[in-house]
Amino acid sequence: MMAAIVIMLEAIKVGVSIGDACRLYKKCKICDDYKYLKNFPTRGGRMSNRTKRKSYCWDCKDRKYEKILGPKQEYSFDTSVLDASKEITIRGRDSSNYKFENTVSYDKAKKLVEEGAAGIFHSTLIHHFFNRKTLKAFILERDGYTCHYCGFYGDTIDHMISKSKGGLSTPRNCVCSCEECNSEKADKRYKEYLEIIKLRLQQPS
Ligand SMILES: [Zn+2]
Ligand SMILES: [Zn+2]
Repeated sequence: MMAAIVIMLEAIKVGVSIGDACRLYKKCKICDDYKYLKNFPTRGGRMSNRTKRKSYCWDCKDRKYEKILGPKQEYSFDTSVLDASKEITIRGRDSSNYKFENTVSYDKAKKLVEEGAAGIFHSTLIHHFFNRKTLKAFILERDGYTCHYCGFYGDTIDHMISKSKGGLSTPRNCVCSCEECNSEKADKRYKEYLEIIKLRLQQPS
Protein backbone atom coordinates (compact mmCIF):
# COMPACT_ATOMS: atom_id res chain seq x y z
CA MET A 1 0.00 0.00 0.00
CA MET A 2 2.82 2.35 0.96
CA ALA A 3 4.46 1.59 -2.35
CA ALA A 4 1.32 2.54 -4.23
CA ILE A 5 1.15 5.91 -2.55
CA VAL A 6 4.82 6.56 -3.21
CA ILE A 7 4.31 5.72 -6.87
CA MET A 8 1.30 8.00 -7.15
CA LEU A 9 3.20 10.85 -5.51
CA GLU A 10 6.07 10.22 -7.91
CA ALA A 11 3.61 10.27 -10.77
CA ILE A 12 2.16 13.59 -9.68
CA LYS A 13 5.65 15.03 -9.26
CA VAL A 14 6.67 14.17 -12.81
CA GLY A 15 3.35 15.36 -14.15
CA VAL A 16 1.60 12.23 -15.32
CA SER A 17 -1.92 11.54 -14.18
CA ILE A 18 -2.67 8.76 -11.72
CA GLY A 19 -4.46 6.95 -14.51
CA ASP A 20 -1.23 6.84 -16.51
CA ALA A 21 0.69 5.74 -13.46
CA CYS A 22 -1.64 2.80 -13.00
CA ARG A 23 -0.97 1.73 -16.54
CA LEU A 24 2.78 1.93 -16.04
CA TYR A 25 2.77 0.14 -12.73
CA LYS A 26 1.14 -3.06 -11.75
CA LYS A 27 0.63 -4.97 -8.54
CA CYS A 28 2.14 -8.44 -8.37
CA LYS A 29 -0.41 -11.00 -7.25
CA ILE A 30 2.20 -12.95 -5.34
CA CYS A 31 4.45 -10.46 -3.53
CA ASP A 32 1.84 -7.64 -3.54
CA ASP A 33 4.48 -5.10 -4.59
CA TYR A 34 3.74 -2.40 -7.12
CA LYS A 35 6.34 -2.62 -9.83
CA TYR A 36 7.07 -1.05 -13.17
CA LEU A 37 5.46 -3.01 -16.04
CA LYS A 38 8.79 -4.25 -17.36
CA ASN A 39 9.12 -6.34 -14.21
CA PHE A 40 6.24 -8.55 -15.35
CA PRO A 41 6.68 -11.30 -17.95
CA THR A 42 4.70 -10.78 -21.16
CA ARG A 43 2.11 -13.34 -22.11
CA GLY A 44 3.51 -15.80 -24.62
CA GLY A 45 1.90 -17.36 -27.66
CA ARG A 46 1.64 -16.56 -31.32
CA MET A 47 -1.54 -14.53 -31.06
CA SER A 48 -0.65 -12.74 -27.88
CA ASN A 49 -0.73 -9.03 -27.45
CA ARG A 50 2.80 -8.20 -26.33
CA THR A 51 1.55 -5.40 -24.12
CA LYS A 52 -0.36 -7.80 -21.89
CA ARG A 53 1.57 -9.01 -18.93
CA LYS A 54 1.33 -11.80 -16.41
CA SER A 55 -0.11 -11.18 -12.99
CA TYR A 56 3.13 -12.03 -11.19
CA CYS A 57 6.52 -10.35 -11.44
CA TRP A 58 9.78 -11.90 -12.64
CA ASP A 59 10.98 -12.33 -9.06
CA CYS A 60 7.91 -14.40 -8.23
CA LYS A 61 7.84 -16.44 -11.43
CA ASP A 62 9.10 -19.61 -9.78
CA ARG A 63 6.41 -19.40 -7.12
CA LYS A 64 3.48 -19.16 -9.52
CA TYR A 65 2.51 -22.80 -9.08
CA GLU A 66 2.26 -22.71 -5.31
CA LYS A 67 0.59 -19.30 -5.23
CA ILE A 68 -1.64 -18.92 -8.28
CA LEU A 69 -1.98 -22.05 -10.35
CA GLY A 70 -1.83 -24.59 -7.56
CA PRO A 71 0.48 -27.57 -7.77
CA LYS A 72 1.20 -28.90 -11.26
CA GLN A 73 -1.31 -31.59 -12.00
CA GLU A 74 -0.07 -35.15 -12.03
CA TYR A 75 -0.74 -37.05 -15.23
CA SER A 76 -2.57 -40.31 -15.35
CA PHE A 77 -1.43 -43.06 -17.70
CA ASP A 78 -4.44 -45.27 -17.15
CA THR A 79 -6.10 -45.22 -20.58
CA SER A 80 -9.39 -46.56 -19.20
CA VAL A 81 -9.92 -42.98 -18.01
CA LEU A 82 -10.26 -41.78 -21.62
CA ASP A 83 -13.74 -41.31 -23.02
CA ALA A 84 -13.97 -43.69 -25.99
CA SER A 85 -17.09 -42.01 -27.35
CA LYS A 86 -15.46 -38.61 -27.83
CA GLU A 87 -12.67 -36.93 -29.71
CA ILE A 88 -9.76 -36.20 -27.41
CA THR A 89 -8.15 -32.78 -27.12
CA ILE A 90 -4.38 -32.81 -27.21
CA ARG A 91 -2.21 -29.95 -26.01
CA GLY A 92 1.50 -29.45 -26.19
CA ARG A 93 4.25 -27.23 -27.49
CA ASP A 94 5.53 -27.25 -31.06
CA SER A 95 9.18 -27.10 -32.12
CA SER A 96 9.18 -23.31 -31.71
CA ASN A 97 7.85 -23.78 -28.17
CA TYR A 98 4.44 -22.33 -29.04
CA LYS A 99 1.46 -23.91 -27.36
CA PHE A 100 -0.78 -25.89 -29.67
CA GLU A 101 -4.12 -27.58 -29.29
CA ASN A 102 -5.60 -30.22 -31.58
CA THR A 103 -8.13 -32.98 -31.49
CA VAL A 104 -7.28 -36.61 -32.15
CA SER A 105 -9.33 -39.78 -32.27
CA TYR A 106 -9.73 -41.82 -29.12
CA ASP A 107 -7.61 -44.60 -30.65
CA LYS A 108 -4.72 -42.30 -31.42
CA ALA A 109 -4.89 -40.65 -28.01
CA LYS A 110 -4.82 -44.06 -26.34
CA LYS A 111 -1.83 -45.12 -28.41
CA LEU A 112 0.07 -41.90 -27.67
CA VAL A 113 -0.38 -42.47 -23.95
CA GLU A 114 0.48 -46.17 -24.12
CA GLU A 115 3.61 -45.48 -26.12
CA GLY A 116 4.91 -42.89 -23.69
CA ALA A 117 4.32 -39.73 -25.72
CA ALA A 118 1.45 -38.24 -23.72
CA GLY A 119 -0.16 -38.09 -20.30
CA ILE A 120 -3.83 -37.87 -19.38
CA PHE A 121 -5.32 -34.78 -17.72
CA HIS A 122 -8.90 -36.01 -17.75
CA SER A 123 -11.28 -38.08 -19.86
CA THR A 124 -11.07 -35.84 -22.94
CA LEU A 125 -7.74 -34.04 -22.55
CA ILE A 126 -4.20 -35.32 -22.95
CA HIS A 127 -0.88 -33.51 -22.94
CA HIS A 128 1.81 -34.26 -25.52
CA PHE A 129 5.26 -34.48 -23.91
CA PHE A 130 7.26 -34.05 -27.11
CA ASN A 131 7.53 -32.18 -30.36
CA ARG A 132 9.69 -33.19 -33.31
CA LYS A 133 12.78 -31.55 -31.85
CA THR A 134 12.48 -32.76 -28.27
CA LEU A 135 11.48 -36.29 -29.29
CA LYS A 136 14.56 -36.58 -31.47
CA ALA A 137 16.82 -35.33 -28.68
CA PHE A 138 15.16 -37.73 -26.23
CA ILE A 139 15.56 -40.80 -28.47
CA LEU A 140 19.18 -40.07 -29.41
CA GLU A 141 20.07 -39.53 -25.77
CA ARG A 142 18.20 -42.65 -24.67
CA ASP A 143 19.87 -44.83 -27.30
CA GLY A 144 23.28 -43.25 -26.79
CA TYR A 145 23.59 -42.19 -30.45
CA THR A 146 23.92 -45.86 -31.37
CA CYS A 147 22.10 -47.21 -34.41
CA HIS A 148 19.45 -49.71 -33.34
CA TYR A 149 20.10 -51.84 -36.42
CA CYS A 150 23.84 -51.94 -37.13
CA GLY A 151 25.24 -50.72 -33.81
CA PHE A 152 27.33 -47.94 -35.30
CA TYR A 153 26.99 -44.21 -34.64
CA GLY A 154 23.58 -42.84 -35.52
CA ASP A 155 21.90 -39.47 -35.25
CA THR A 156 18.60 -39.88 -37.06
CA ILE A 157 15.26 -41.22 -35.86
CA ASP A 158 13.63 -44.28 -37.38
CA HIS A 159 10.00 -45.27 -36.91
CA MET A 160 10.00 -49.04 -36.32
CA ILE A 161 6.45 -49.19 -37.62
CA SER A 162 6.73 -46.61 -40.38
CA LYS A 163 4.39 -43.65 -40.43
CA SER A 164 2.86 -44.89 -43.69
CA LYS A 165 1.79 -48.05 -41.84
CA GLY A 166 0.25 -46.09 -39.01
CA GLY A 167 3.25 -45.88 -36.69
CA LEU A 168 3.35 -42.85 -34.41
CA SER A 169 6.17 -40.58 -33.34
CA THR A 170 6.50 -41.96 -29.83
CA PRO A 171 9.35 -43.14 -27.61
CA ARG A 172 8.21 -46.73 -28.02
CA ASN A 173 7.98 -46.64 -31.81
CA CYS A 174 11.14 -44.64 -32.48
CA VAL A 175 14.76 -45.71 -32.31
CA CYS A 176 18.08 -44.10 -33.05
CA SER A 177 19.34 -45.08 -36.49
CA CYS A 178 22.30 -44.24 -38.70
CA GLU A 179 21.48 -42.47 -41.94
CA GLU A 180 22.35 -45.52 -44.00
CA CYS A 181 20.07 -47.94 -42.15
CA ASN A 182 17.34 -45.35 -42.03
CA SER A 183 17.19 -44.79 -45.77
CA GLU A 184 17.76 -48.48 -46.51
CA LYS A 185 14.96 -49.59 -44.22
CA ALA A 186 12.58 -46.98 -45.62
CA ASP A 187 9.18 -48.67 -45.77
CA LYS A 188 10.33 -52.23 -45.07
CA ARG A 189 8.80 -53.96 -42.10
CA TYR A 190 10.85 -53.83 -38.91
CA LYS A 191 11.45 -57.60 -38.67
CA GLU A 192 12.19 -57.85 -42.37
CA TYR A 193 14.92 -55.24 -42.11
CA LEU A 194 16.38 -56.83 -38.97
CA GLU A 195 16.87 -60.03 -40.97
CA ILE A 196 18.61 -58.16 -43.78
CA ILE A 197 20.96 -56.37 -41.43
CA LYS A 198 21.68 -59.57 -39.46
CA LEU A 199 22.80 -61.34 -42.62
CA ARG A 200 24.97 -58.40 -43.61
CA LEU A 201 26.68 -58.21 -40.22
CA GLN A 202 27.42 -61.95 -40.30
CA GLN A 203 29.23 -61.66 -43.61
CA PRO A 204 32.95 -61.15 -43.15
CA SER A 205 33.84 -57.99 -44.98
ZN1 LIG B 1 6.16 -10.40 -7.23
ZN1 LIG C 1 22.79 -48.38 -38.87
